[in-house]
Amino acid sequence: MASFEPVIGLEVHVQLKTKSKVFCGCPTDFGAEPNSQICPVCCGYPGVLPVLNRSAVEGLVRTALALDCRVNSRSVFARKQYFYPDLPKNYQISQYELPLAEHGHLDISTEAGPRRVRIHRIHLEEDAGKLLHAIGSRALDYSLVDLNRTGIPLMEIVSEPDMHTAEEAAAYMEGLRAVLRYLGVSDCDMEKGFMRCDANVSLRPAGTTGLGTKAEVKNMNSFRGVRDALAYEIERQTDLLEAGQKIVQETRLWDAQKGSTHSMRSKEEAHDYRYFPEPDLVPIELSESFLDELRRSLPELPSVRRTRLEKERGLSGYDAGVITAEKPLADYFEQALAAFEEPLRREAAKPLANWLTTELLGRLHAAQKGIEESPISSRRLAALVRLVLKGTVSGKTAKTVFDDMFAGGGDPETIVEQKGLTQIEDEVLIGRWADEAIAGQPKSAQDVKAGKAAALGALVGAVLKKSGGRANPQTVQRLLKQKLGAS
Ligand code: ADP
Ligand code: ZN
Ligand code: MG
Repeated sequence: MASFEPVIGLEVHVQLKTKSKVFCGCPTDFGAEPNSQICPVCCGYPGVLPVLNRSAVEGLVRTALALDCRVNSRSVFARKQYFYPDLPKNYQISQYELPLAEHGHLDISTEAGPRRVRIHRIHLEEDAGKLLHAIGSRALDYSLVDLNRTGIPLMEIVSEPDMHTAEEAAAYMEGLRAVLRYLGVSDCDMEKGFMRCDANVSLRPAGTTGLGTKAEVKNMNSFRGVRDALAYEIERQTDLLEAGQKIVQETRLWDAQKGSTHSMRSKEEAHDYRYFPEPDLVPIELSESFLDELRRSLPELPSVRRTRLEKERGLSGYDAGVITAEKPLADYFEQALAAFEEPLRREAAKPLANWLTTELLGRLHAAQKGIEESPISSRRLAALVRLVLKGTVSGKTAKTVFDDMFAGGGDPETIVEQKGLTQIEDEVLIGRWADEAIAGQPKSAQDVKAGKAAALGALVGAVLKKSGGRANPQTVQRLLKQKLGAS
Protein backbone atom coordinates (compact mmCIF):
# COMPACT_ATOMS: atom_id res chain seq x y z
CA MET A 1 0.00 0.00 0.00
CA ALA A 2 1.33 3.44 -0.93
CA SER A 3 2.09 5.66 2.02
CA PHE A 4 1.11 9.31 2.08
CA GLU A 5 2.75 12.48 3.26
CA PRO A 6 0.49 15.16 4.79
CA VAL A 7 0.89 18.73 3.51
CA ILE A 8 -0.37 21.58 5.68
CA GLY A 9 -0.68 25.32 5.09
CA LEU A 10 -2.20 27.68 7.67
CA GLU A 11 -4.14 30.90 7.29
CA VAL A 12 -3.94 32.65 10.64
CA HIS A 13 -6.09 35.65 11.53
CA VAL A 14 -4.83 37.85 14.31
CA GLN A 15 -6.63 40.80 15.89
CA LEU A 16 -4.23 43.71 16.18
CA LYS A 17 -4.22 45.30 19.61
CA THR A 18 -5.16 48.89 18.76
CA LYS A 19 -7.20 51.35 20.82
CA SER A 20 -9.67 52.01 18.03
CA LYS A 21 -10.98 50.10 15.04
CA VAL A 22 -9.27 50.04 11.66
CA PHE A 23 -11.53 52.43 9.74
CA CYS A 24 -13.41 54.35 12.47
CA GLY A 25 -12.82 55.65 15.99
CA CYS A 26 -14.86 53.03 17.88
CA PRO A 27 -13.11 51.34 20.83
CA THR A 28 -11.99 47.73 20.60
CA ASP A 29 -12.44 46.57 24.23
CA PHE A 30 -13.23 42.91 24.60
CA GLY A 31 -16.41 41.80 26.38
CA ALA A 32 -18.29 45.10 26.25
CA GLU A 33 -22.09 45.22 26.22
CA PRO A 34 -23.23 43.93 22.78
CA ASN A 35 -23.52 46.67 20.13
CA SER A 36 -22.17 49.35 22.45
CA GLN A 37 -19.00 49.98 20.40
CA ILE A 38 -20.39 50.72 16.99
CA CYS A 39 -20.91 53.70 14.69
CA PRO A 40 -22.27 54.37 11.20
CA VAL A 41 -18.87 53.52 9.66
CA CYS A 42 -18.41 50.04 11.14
CA CYS A 43 -22.12 49.34 10.69
CA GLY A 44 -21.86 50.18 7.02
CA TYR A 45 -24.47 52.92 6.79
CA PRO A 46 -24.78 54.36 3.29
CA GLY A 47 -22.58 57.35 2.54
CA VAL A 48 -19.99 56.93 5.27
CA LEU A 49 -16.26 56.92 4.55
CA PRO A 50 -13.50 54.79 6.12
CA VAL A 51 -10.34 56.43 7.50
CA LEU A 52 -7.31 54.17 7.96
CA ASN A 53 -5.89 53.68 11.48
CA ARG A 54 -2.14 54.25 11.36
CA SER A 55 -1.35 52.03 14.32
CA ALA A 56 -2.97 49.02 12.64
CA VAL A 57 -0.55 49.46 9.75
CA GLU A 58 2.33 49.81 12.20
CA GLY A 59 1.39 46.59 14.00
CA LEU A 60 1.18 44.66 10.76
CA VAL A 61 4.42 46.07 9.37
CA ARG A 62 6.32 45.34 12.58
CA THR A 63 5.03 41.76 12.36
CA ALA A 64 6.08 41.56 8.73
CA LEU A 65 9.58 42.82 9.54
CA ALA A 66 9.91 40.36 12.43
CA LEU A 67 8.97 37.55 10.03
CA ASP A 68 11.54 38.73 7.46
CA CYS A 69 8.87 39.64 4.93
CA ARG A 70 9.28 42.01 2.06
CA VAL A 71 7.09 45.01 2.91
CA ASN A 72 5.49 46.53 -0.17
CA SER A 73 5.98 50.28 -0.30
CA ARG A 74 2.63 50.51 -2.05
CA SER A 75 -0.39 48.34 -1.31
CA VAL A 76 -4.10 48.60 -1.93
CA PHE A 77 -7.35 47.67 -0.23
CA ALA A 78 -9.97 45.58 -1.98
CA ARG A 79 -13.61 44.78 -1.37
CA LYS A 80 -14.34 41.13 -0.77
CA GLN A 81 -18.03 40.67 -1.28
CA TYR A 82 -20.22 38.17 0.42
CA PHE A 83 -23.53 38.15 2.21
CA TYR A 84 -23.73 37.11 5.84
CA PRO A 85 -25.51 38.61 8.87
CA ASP A 86 -22.23 39.39 10.67
CA LEU A 87 -21.14 41.69 7.81
CA PRO A 88 -23.46 44.68 7.60
CA LYS A 89 -21.78 46.26 4.55
CA ASN A 90 -22.06 43.02 2.58
CA TYR A 91 -18.41 43.41 1.75
CA GLN A 92 -15.28 43.20 3.83
CA ILE A 93 -12.47 45.65 3.27
CA SER A 94 -9.43 43.46 2.76
CA GLN A 95 -6.40 43.28 0.52
CA TYR A 96 -6.15 41.09 -2.53
CA GLU A 97 -3.72 41.85 -5.31
CA LEU A 98 -1.25 44.05 -3.47
CA PRO A 99 -0.96 43.00 0.18
CA LEU A 100 1.17 44.92 2.68
CA ALA A 101 3.76 42.18 2.99
CA GLU A 102 4.96 39.00 1.26
CA HIS A 103 7.65 36.30 1.26
CA GLY A 104 8.76 35.89 4.85
CA HIS A 105 9.45 32.94 7.08
CA LEU A 106 9.25 31.68 10.64
CA ASP A 107 11.80 29.24 12.04
CA ILE A 108 10.30 26.78 14.46
CA SER A 109 11.83 24.11 16.65
CA THR A 110 10.23 20.68 16.65
CA GLU A 111 11.22 17.40 18.24
CA ALA A 112 12.65 16.38 14.88
CA GLY A 113 14.83 19.50 14.78
CA PRO A 114 14.53 23.05 13.41
CA ARG A 115 12.16 23.75 10.52
CA ARG A 116 11.57 26.80 8.36
CA VAL A 117 7.99 27.66 7.40
CA ARG A 118 7.72 30.20 4.61
CA ILE A 119 5.14 32.97 4.88
CA HIS A 120 3.29 33.59 1.63
CA ARG A 121 1.71 36.92 2.50
CA ILE A 122 0.35 39.13 5.29
CA HIS A 123 -2.51 41.47 4.61
CA LEU A 124 -4.70 43.86 6.55
CA GLU A 125 -8.48 43.59 6.76
CA GLU A 126 -11.39 44.34 9.03
CA ASP A 127 -13.02 41.78 11.31
CA ALA A 128 -16.69 40.87 11.05
CA GLY A 129 -19.27 40.86 13.86
CA LYS A 130 -20.22 37.95 16.08
CA LEU A 131 -23.34 35.83 15.83
CA LEU A 132 -24.88 34.25 18.89
CA HIS A 133 -27.08 31.35 17.91
CA ALA A 134 -29.83 30.73 20.40
CA ILE A 135 -29.65 26.98 20.51
CA GLY A 136 -30.37 25.13 23.72
CA SER A 137 -32.54 22.38 25.05
CA ARG A 138 -35.64 24.15 23.79
CA ALA A 139 -36.01 24.62 20.07
CA LEU A 140 -34.96 28.24 19.56
CA ASP A 141 -34.89 29.64 16.08
CA TYR A 142 -33.16 32.98 16.18
CA SER A 143 -29.64 34.37 16.23
CA LEU A 144 -28.35 37.57 17.79
CA VAL A 145 -25.88 39.87 16.08
CA ASP A 146 -23.18 41.73 18.01
CA LEU A 147 -21.32 44.22 15.85
CA ASN A 148 -18.74 45.31 18.46
CA ARG A 149 -16.10 43.23 16.68
CA THR A 150 -16.99 44.62 13.26
CA GLY A 151 -14.09 46.73 12.02
CA ILE A 152 -11.46 45.58 14.51
CA PRO A 153 -8.16 45.36 12.59
CA LEU A 154 -7.20 41.86 11.57
CA MET A 155 -4.05 40.70 9.90
CA GLU A 156 -4.14 37.52 7.91
CA ILE A 157 -0.88 35.62 7.87
CA VAL A 158 -0.85 32.99 5.12
CA SER A 159 1.84 30.33 5.23
CA GLU A 160 3.16 28.28 2.35
CA PRO A 161 2.18 24.58 2.53
CA ASP A 162 5.42 23.78 4.37
CA MET A 163 4.22 21.76 7.34
CA HIS A 164 3.84 17.99 7.37
CA THR A 165 2.60 16.96 10.80
CA ALA A 166 0.03 18.21 13.28
CA GLU A 167 2.90 18.86 15.72
CA GLU A 168 4.70 21.08 13.22
CA ALA A 169 1.53 23.08 12.67
CA ALA A 170 1.07 23.50 16.43
CA ALA A 171 4.74 24.52 16.81
CA TYR A 172 4.25 27.09 14.04
CA MET A 173 1.18 28.52 15.80
CA GLU A 174 3.07 28.69 19.08
CA GLY A 175 6.12 30.25 17.45
CA LEU A 176 3.95 32.84 15.75
CA ARG A 177 2.17 33.60 18.99
CA ALA A 178 5.47 34.10 20.79
CA VAL A 179 6.67 36.57 18.14
CA LEU A 180 3.40 38.52 18.14
CA ARG A 181 3.36 38.73 21.93
CA TYR A 182 7.00 39.87 22.00
CA LEU A 183 6.07 42.60 19.55
CA GLY A 184 3.05 43.47 21.67
CA VAL A 185 0.86 43.61 18.56
CA SER A 186 -1.64 41.05 19.86
CA ASP A 187 -2.36 38.97 22.95
CA CYS A 188 -3.10 36.03 20.63
CA ASP A 189 -5.63 34.54 23.02
CA MET A 190 -7.26 31.79 20.91
CA GLU A 191 -10.05 31.21 23.43
CA LYS A 192 -11.12 34.83 22.99
CA GLY A 193 -10.80 34.63 19.22
CA PHE A 194 -7.86 37.09 19.08
CA MET A 195 -6.02 34.46 17.06
CA ARG A 196 -7.87 32.13 14.70
CA CYS A 197 -6.61 29.54 12.31
CA ASP A 198 -7.89 27.92 9.12
CA ALA A 199 -5.88 24.80 8.44
CA ASN A 200 -5.50 23.50 4.88
CA VAL A 201 -4.58 19.84 4.62
CA SER A 202 -3.92 17.48 1.76
CA LEU A 203 -2.04 14.25 1.24
CA ARG A 204 0.37 13.23 -1.47
CA PRO A 205 2.15 9.98 -2.20
CA ALA A 206 5.31 9.91 -0.07
CA GLY A 207 8.35 11.00 -2.05
CA THR A 208 6.44 13.19 -4.53
CA THR A 209 6.34 16.98 -4.58
CA GLY A 210 2.99 17.88 -6.16
CA LEU A 211 -0.02 19.04 -4.15
CA GLY A 212 -3.09 16.89 -3.59
CA THR A 213 -6.68 18.10 -3.20
CA LYS A 214 -7.04 19.91 0.10
CA ALA A 215 -9.71 20.35 2.71
CA GLU A 216 -9.85 23.50 4.81
CA VAL A 217 -10.60 22.99 8.51
CA LYS A 218 -12.04 25.81 10.62
CA ASN A 219 -13.37 26.40 14.09
CA MET A 220 -10.45 25.42 16.31
CA ASN A 221 -10.30 27.67 19.36
CA SER A 222 -7.18 26.42 21.09
CA PHE A 223 -3.69 25.24 20.18
CA ARG A 224 -4.75 21.79 21.26
CA GLY A 225 -7.71 22.06 18.90
CA VAL A 226 -5.43 22.83 15.96
CA ARG A 227 -3.29 19.80 16.70
CA ASP A 228 -6.23 17.45 17.27
CA ALA A 229 -8.20 18.66 14.25
CA LEU A 230 -5.19 18.19 11.97
CA ALA A 231 -4.43 14.73 13.36
CA TYR A 232 -8.06 13.75 12.77
CA GLU A 233 -8.14 15.21 9.27
CA ILE A 234 -4.91 13.48 8.23
CA GLU A 235 -6.33 10.17 9.37
CA ARG A 236 -9.66 10.77 7.64
CA GLN A 237 -7.99 11.56 4.33
CA THR A 238 -5.58 8.64 4.64
CA ASP A 239 -8.48 6.23 5.13
CA LEU A 240 -10.29 7.63 2.08
CA LEU A 241 -7.26 7.45 -0.18
CA GLU A 242 -6.34 3.97 0.99
CA ALA A 243 -9.87 2.86 0.18
CA GLY A 244 -9.35 4.19 -3.34
CA GLN A 245 -11.66 7.18 -2.85
CA LYS A 246 -11.09 10.85 -3.67
CA ILE A 247 -10.76 13.88 -1.41
CA VAL A 248 -13.43 16.53 -1.98
CA GLN A 249 -12.25 20.14 -1.95
CA GLU A 250 -14.36 21.65 0.82
CA THR A 251 -14.47 23.56 4.10
CA ARG A 252 -14.88 21.38 7.18
CA LEU A 253 -15.69 22.32 10.75
CA TRP A 254 -13.84 20.94 13.76
CA ASP A 255 -16.10 19.76 16.55
CA ALA A 256 -13.98 19.69 19.71
CA GLN A 257 -16.64 17.80 21.67
CA LYS A 258 -16.94 14.99 19.14
CA GLY A 259 -13.27 15.13 18.21
CA SER A 260 -14.05 15.08 14.50
CA THR A 261 -14.54 17.32 11.46
CA HIS A 262 -17.64 17.52 9.32
CA SER A 263 -18.35 19.11 5.98
CA MET A 264 -19.66 22.71 6.13
CA ARG A 265 -19.71 23.78 2.50
CA SER A 266 -17.93 23.25 -0.76
CA LYS A 267 -14.96 25.59 -0.91
CA GLU A 268 -15.63 28.93 -2.53
CA GLU A 269 -13.20 30.24 -5.15
CA ALA A 270 -11.60 33.67 -5.14
CA HIS A 271 -13.69 34.73 -8.16
CA ASP A 272 -16.87 34.11 -6.14
CA TYR A 273 -16.02 37.17 -4.06
CA ARG A 274 -15.79 39.59 -6.99
CA TYR A 275 -12.83 41.40 -5.46
CA PHE A 276 -12.30 44.92 -6.71
CA PRO A 277 -10.13 47.82 -5.51
CA GLU A 278 -11.73 49.73 -2.62
CA PRO A 279 -12.70 53.12 -4.10
CA ASP A 280 -13.04 54.87 -0.72
CA LEU A 281 -9.42 54.39 0.40
CA VAL A 282 -6.24 55.57 -1.25
CA PRO A 283 -3.38 53.06 -1.62
CA ILE A 284 -1.08 52.76 1.41
CA GLU A 285 2.31 54.24 0.63
CA LEU A 286 5.10 53.60 3.10
CA SER A 287 8.24 55.69 3.23
CA GLU A 288 11.70 54.27 3.92
CA SER A 289 11.97 56.37 7.07
CA PHE A 290 8.67 54.95 8.39
CA LEU A 291 9.97 51.42 7.80
CA ASP A 292 13.33 52.25 9.39
CA GLU A 293 11.65 53.61 12.44
CA LEU A 294 9.59 50.43 12.84
CA ARG A 295 12.63 48.27 12.17
CA ARG A 296 14.41 50.01 15.03
CA SER A 297 11.44 49.38 17.33
CA LEU A 298 11.71 45.59 17.06
CA PRO A 299 12.73 43.77 20.25
CA GLU A 300 15.12 40.83 20.25
CA LEU A 301 12.87 38.02 19.04
CA PRO A 302 12.24 34.80 20.98
CA SER A 303 14.24 32.41 18.79
CA VAL A 304 17.27 34.73 18.76
CA ARG A 305 17.04 35.27 22.50
CA ARG A 306 16.72 31.57 23.11
CA THR A 307 19.87 30.78 21.14
CA ARG A 308 21.72 33.60 22.88
CA LEU A 309 20.77 32.33 26.35
CA GLU A 310 21.93 28.85 25.39
CA LYS A 311 25.25 30.07 24.04
CA GLU A 312 26.01 32.96 26.38
CA ARG A 313 24.60 31.55 29.59
CA GLY A 314 25.00 27.82 29.06
CA LEU A 315 21.29 27.10 29.56
CA SER A 316 19.85 23.86 28.21
CA GLY A 317 17.69 24.18 25.10
CA TYR A 318 14.71 23.24 27.20
CA ASP A 319 15.29 25.87 29.91
CA ALA A 320 16.08 28.54 27.35
CA GLY A 321 12.87 27.63 25.50
CA VAL A 322 10.73 27.90 28.63
CA ILE A 323 12.31 31.17 29.72
CA THR A 324 12.09 32.90 26.33
CA ALA A 325 8.54 31.75 25.57
CA GLU A 326 7.22 34.99 27.06
CA LYS A 327 9.07 38.29 26.98
CA PRO A 328 8.32 39.29 30.61
CA LEU A 329 9.74 35.96 31.77
CA ALA A 330 12.94 36.36 29.76
CA ASP A 331 13.20 39.95 31.01
CA TYR A 332 12.83 38.74 34.60
CA PHE A 333 15.57 36.16 34.11
CA GLU A 334 18.00 38.60 32.56
CA GLN A 335 17.30 41.24 35.21
CA ALA A 336 18.02 38.68 37.92
CA LEU A 337 21.21 37.63 36.19
CA ALA A 338 22.33 41.23 35.86
CA ALA A 339 22.43 41.42 39.68
CA PHE A 340 25.52 39.16 39.60
CA GLU A 341 29.00 40.30 38.68
CA GLU A 342 31.33 38.08 36.66
CA PRO A 343 32.55 35.43 37.30
CA LEU A 344 29.69 34.63 39.69
CA ARG A 345 27.21 35.44 36.90
CA ARG A 346 28.41 32.49 34.87
CA GLU A 347 27.86 30.21 37.85
CA ALA A 348 24.47 31.73 38.70
CA ALA A 349 22.74 31.22 35.34
CA LYS A 350 21.79 27.58 35.75
CA PRO A 351 20.61 27.66 39.38
CA LEU A 352 18.70 30.83 38.61
CA ALA A 353 17.00 29.15 35.65
CA ASN A 354 16.10 26.23 37.92
CA TRP A 355 14.62 28.39 40.65
CA LEU A 356 12.68 30.32 38.06
CA THR A 357 11.29 27.50 35.94
CA THR A 358 10.58 24.95 38.66
CA GLU A 359 9.96 26.75 41.97
CA LEU A 360 8.71 30.18 41.00
CA LEU A 361 6.73 29.29 37.87
CA GLY A 362 5.21 26.29 39.62
CA ARG A 363 4.08 28.47 42.50
CA LEU A 364 2.78 31.24 40.23
CA HIS A 365 0.94 28.74 38.09
CA ALA A 366 -0.80 27.28 41.13
CA ALA A 367 -1.76 30.80 42.24
CA GLN A 368 -2.91 31.58 38.66
CA LYS A 369 -0.56 34.51 38.46
CA GLY A 370 1.75 35.76 35.76
CA ILE A 371 5.42 36.61 36.26
CA GLU A 372 4.49 40.31 36.40
CA GLU A 373 2.52 39.59 39.59
CA SER A 374 5.29 37.57 41.22
CA PRO A 375 5.60 38.38 44.95
CA ILE A 376 9.32 37.68 44.54
CA SER A 377 11.11 40.32 42.49
CA SER A 378 13.95 39.38 40.14
CA ARG A 379 16.39 41.19 42.46
CA ARG A 380 15.27 39.13 45.46
CA LEU A 381 15.41 35.81 43.64
CA ALA A 382 18.94 36.73 42.60
CA ALA A 383 19.77 37.50 46.25
CA LEU A 384 18.52 34.07 47.31
CA VAL A 385 20.60 32.30 44.67
CA ARG A 386 23.60 34.33 45.83
CA LEU A 387 23.12 33.09 49.42
CA VAL A 388 23.16 29.50 48.16
CA LEU A 389 26.19 30.02 45.91
CA LYS A 390 28.13 31.65 48.74
CA GLY A 391 27.23 28.81 51.10
CA THR A 392 25.40 31.09 53.55
CA VAL A 393 22.40 28.76 53.42
CA SER A 394 22.07 25.18 52.23
CA GLY A 395 19.93 24.36 49.22
CA LYS A 396 17.40 22.81 51.54
CA THR A 397 17.15 25.84 53.80
CA ALA A 398 16.86 28.03 50.70
CA LYS A 399 13.57 26.30 49.88
CA THR A 400 12.04 27.37 53.20
CA VAL A 401 13.39 30.90 52.73
CA PHE A 402 11.81 30.85 49.27
CA ASP A 403 8.46 29.84 50.80
CA ASP A 404 8.65 32.79 53.19
CA MET A 405 9.55 35.14 50.37
CA PHE A 406 6.65 33.92 48.26
CA ALA A 407 4.22 34.28 51.16
CA GLY A 408 5.42 37.57 52.58
CA GLY A 409 7.62 39.13 49.98
CA GLY A 410 10.60 39.83 52.24
CA ASP A 411 14.32 40.07 51.54
CA PRO A 412 16.06 36.67 51.74
CA GLU A 413 18.93 38.17 53.79
CA THR A 414 16.49 39.51 56.38
CA ILE A 415 14.56 36.21 56.57
CA VAL A 416 17.78 34.22 57.03
CA GLU A 417 18.97 36.67 59.70
CA GLN A 418 15.72 36.86 61.63
CA LYS A 419 15.10 33.10 61.61
CA GLY A 420 18.74 32.23 62.27
CA LEU A 421 18.96 30.04 59.19
CA THR A 422 22.58 30.69 58.31
CA GLN A 423 24.45 27.56 57.35
CA ILE A 424 26.66 26.29 60.17
CA GLU A 425 30.33 25.88 59.23
CA ASP A 426 31.74 25.73 62.76
CA GLU A 427 33.82 22.54 62.76
CA VAL A 428 34.01 22.29 66.54
CA LEU A 429 30.24 22.35 66.79
CA ILE A 430 29.73 19.96 63.88
CA GLY A 431 32.43 17.68 65.31
CA ARG A 432 30.59 17.48 68.61
CA TRP A 433 27.34 16.50 66.83
CA ALA A 434 29.28 13.93 64.81
CA ASP A 435 30.61 12.32 68.01
CA GLU A 436 27.08 12.18 69.41
CA ALA A 437 25.75 10.63 66.20
CA ILE A 438 28.48 7.97 66.22
CA ALA A 439 27.78 7.15 69.86
CA GLY A 440 24.05 6.94 69.14
CA GLN A 441 24.44 4.60 66.14
CA PRO A 442 27.38 2.28 66.85
CA LYS A 443 26.18 -0.24 64.23
CA SER A 444 26.32 2.34 61.42
CA ALA A 445 29.68 3.57 62.64
CA GLN A 446 30.99 -0.02 62.60
CA ASP A 447 29.70 -0.52 59.04
CA VAL A 448 31.40 2.62 57.80
CA LYS A 449 34.64 1.55 59.39
CA ALA A 450 34.24 -1.83 57.65
CA GLY A 451 34.08 -0.03 54.32
CA LYS A 452 30.30 0.13 53.76
CA ALA A 453 30.10 3.65 52.42
CA ALA A 454 26.30 3.51 52.23
CA ALA A 455 26.05 3.42 56.02
CA LEU A 456 27.42 6.96 56.21
CA GLY A 457 24.06 8.39 55.10
CA ALA A 458 22.32 7.55 58.37
CA LEU A 459 25.04 9.34 60.37
CA VAL A 460 25.02 12.40 58.12
CA GLY A 461 21.25 12.52 58.50
CA ALA A 462 21.55 12.38 62.30
CA VAL A 463 24.03 15.27 62.39
CA LEU A 464 21.93 17.39 60.06
CA LYS A 465 18.93 16.75 62.26
CA LYS A 466 20.81 17.84 65.37
CA SER A 467 21.78 21.03 63.56
CA GLY A 468 18.21 21.81 62.59
CA GLY A 469 19.14 21.25 58.94
CA ARG A 470 21.69 24.05 59.05
CA ALA A 471 25.04 22.25 59.13
CA ASN A 472 26.93 22.30 55.85
CA PRO A 473 26.41 18.74 54.53
CA GLN A 474 29.86 18.62 52.93
CA THR A 475 31.58 19.50 56.19
CA VAL A 476 29.46 16.95 58.05
CA GLN A 477 30.49 14.19 55.65
CA ARG A 478 34.15 15.12 55.76
CA LEU A 479 34.31 15.20 59.59
CA LEU A 480 32.41 11.91 59.98
CA LYS A 481 34.72 10.18 57.53
CA GLN A 482 37.75 11.58 59.35
CA LYS A 483 36.52 10.35 62.69
CA LEU A 484 35.72 6.87 61.32
CA GLY A 485 38.93 6.58 59.34
CA ALA A 486 36.98 6.09 56.10
CA SER A 487 38.04 7.61 52.80
P1 ADP B 1 -7.46 29.03 -1.55
O1 ADP B 1 -7.46 29.86 -2.79
O2 ADP B 1 -8.20 27.75 -1.67
O3 ADP B 1 -7.79 29.81 -0.31
P2 ADP B 1 -4.66 29.40 -1.32
O4 ADP B 1 -3.79 29.03 -2.49
O5 ADP B 1 -5.01 30.82 -1.12
O6 ADP B 1 -5.96 28.52 -1.40
O7 ADP B 1 -3.97 28.83 -0.03
C1 ADP B 1 -4.55 28.96 1.21
C2 ADP B 1 -3.71 28.19 2.20
O8 ADP B 1 -3.75 26.82 1.89
C3 ADP B 1 -2.24 28.56 2.21
O9 ADP B 1 -1.79 28.55 3.54
C4 ADP B 1 -1.59 27.45 1.42
O10 ADP B 1 -0.27 27.21 1.87
C5 ADP B 1 -2.46 26.28 1.72
N1 ADP B 1 -2.54 25.30 0.64
C6 ADP B 1 -2.76 25.56 -0.66
N2 ADP B 1 -2.81 24.41 -1.35
C7 ADP B 1 -2.65 23.40 -0.45
C8 ADP B 1 -2.64 21.98 -0.54
N3 ADP B 1 -2.83 21.33 -1.69
N4 ADP B 1 -2.46 21.29 0.60
C9 ADP B 1 -2.29 21.90 1.77
N5 ADP B 1 -2.30 23.23 1.91
C10 ADP B 1 -2.48 23.98 0.82
ZN1 ZN C 1 -17.26 52.38 14.36
MG1 MG D 1 -7.02 31.88 -0.16
